[in-house]
Amino acid sequence: MSDKARQEIRFQGAGVSPGSAFGKIHVVRDDLDDVARYRISPSQVPDEIGRFETALIQTRMQILEMQQRIAESIGAKDAAIFDAHLLVVEDRTLIDEVLRKLETDLCNVEWVFQEVATRYAETLNKIDDPYLRERALDIQDVTKRVIRNLQGKAPKTFLGLSEPHILVAHNLTPSDTASMNRERVLGIVTDLGSRTSHTAIMARSLNIPAIVGLHDITAKLETGQHVLVDGTDGLLIVDPTPETLAQYAEIESRRARVVAQLKELRETRSTTRDGRHIVLSANIELPEDVDAVEANGAEGIGLYRTEFLYLNRNTLPTEDEQYETYRKVAERVRPDPLIIRTFDLGGDKLAPGTVDITDELNPFLGWRAIRFCLENVDIFKTQLRAILRASAVGNVKIMFPMISGLDELRHAIAVLAECREELYSSKIDIGKKIEVGAMIEIPSAALSANVLACEVDFFSIGTNDLIQYALAVDRVNEKIAHLYKPTHPAVLRLLKMIADAAHASDIWVGVCGEMAGDVALIPLLLGLGMDELSASATLVPRVKRAVQSLAIPECQELVEETLKLDTASEILARCLELADKRYGDLLG
Ligand code: PEP
Ligand code: MG
Repeated sequence: MSDKARQEIRFQGAGVSPGSAFGKIHVVRDDLDDVARYRISPSQVPDEIGRFETALIQTRMQILEMQQRIAESIGAKDAAIFDAHLLVVEDRTLIDEVLRKLETDLCNVEWVFQEVATRYAETLNKIDDPYLRERALDIQDVTKRVIRNLQGKAPKTFLGLSEPHILVAHNLTPSDTASMNRERVLGIVTDLGSRTSHTAIMARSLNIPAIVGLHDITAKLETGQHVLVDGTDGLLIVDPTPETLAQYAEIESRRARVVAQLKELRETRSTTRDGRHIVLSANIELPEDVDAVEANGAEGIGLYRTEFLYLNRNTLPTEDEQYETYRKVAERVRPDPLIIRTFDLGGDKLAPGTVDITDELNPFLGWRAIRFCLENVDIFKTQLRAILRASAVGNVKIMFPMISGLDELRHAIAVLAECREELYSSKIDIGKKIEVGAMIEIPSAALSANVLACEVDFFSIGTNDLIQYALAVDRVNEKIAHLYKPTHPAVLRLLKMIADAAHASDIWVGVCGEMAGDVALIPLLLGLGMDELSASATLVPRVKRAVQSLAIPECQELVEETLKLDTASEILARCLELADKRYGDLLG
């Protein structure tokens, strides 16, 4: 079709990682639902066997290739997870059963293979043994891959694509995103997801424009189409016209100018107009993200999500491996702080290869973070010892996620004390004064913040979870994403309660949830008295500009006024008014 006759089509989703990208798409589908069943004649059986053998060889090659790439980019240990996948394509019992059924059932091989493999996986899944359940997951994964090959479809591999592309998928798990080839993925588009899902958080860290919550976009698009991803406004434009492309080129160059201006702030301090210094740090997920911390002028790391160390592998990270990782990061940022959050697996971050937290009806209310750690003390202590050892070389602080009350906090502190004692008796060096903090991200913790404040050196508010629990809005469910409101009057009251309790006990309080990276809300956070803000490194320069443009009294006045307002939209409107007056160019 000529450019003139071509019509662009627009889809609206939620923009979760700003910026725009234009390119060819690669659609990743969950193909098991559309496996057709058709009869074959006995004379076609040898052809079907031939197709099956070719698909198994192709699958094996893809797995080996992926293994090699992961070994080179992340490490041999992470690549070992694919050994189990290789065993599936070589499993004689499975293969023989498929060949036998082909002869007896006289159906196409995709159908037969799916039948046999699904039954096999279901049987393993029913056995109460974490190892066998793990094998069931491997079989499901490999089954999809073999069927894609039989259908001649592109494999679901984010690492295997050599051309730059825009990835379109039904859903991406945080581990998918963590193993993505950042050089090649220009943009991300998904059917599911929301702003505070960990996939969205990763996309922002990687600086990849992303749109989520597009419902059934994978069914509407085909690999090879050209799209424009506007991750700022959540707009996906299929076959954009030359006029649209020109308009976006202009927007991008304006964005680049703002980014260049913001770069100049790198060496400056995040001090308000009236001279109050706000510690501005960065959130990281992977050790290599540390480069972006310095490059964006953050004052250290306010949240290191260490659970990413446990994903995409099939053995737990050892104490030495963790120590080496934390030590390198601590050395890079010292004398600035590195706040290590003990691992927060569960919810949307599952690590089926290492930690068995699956099959929960309500994962975000389930066996997650500190709850899992306190019942698996050996795994917890391995991490705590590694963190304590790393504290000898840098300004390391520790914080515990998902604290719901005093007993839990005291228990975690007691386990930490045991680790300290053990290292001390083994004459292993640790830092002299290591600050210990609690994440406040559960309403019960917020409501008892005055009690918790007596036991720790700082609070770091996880607004992503605090909002989801306070408003009962699942943070990854796109159907209710419109109900997820950071400026809800209830959230504002909880934030005030936490900040006031911290200051009454003379400890500092920061925010490390996504709210800290939203420039529209910085006036509110400063007015509430937050001492620290920690945001995705790519957002740090904007937050710094916002802090430098504001004065504390005007922010305090804003809080006073907004506490009297009844709805989230009124509160947001007031915040935007002040933000627009001080740094309108950063909004929208
Ligand atoms: C939060 O809940 O706000 C937070 C920072 O932790 P996470 O997003 O990893 O749950
Ligand atoms: Mg959290």
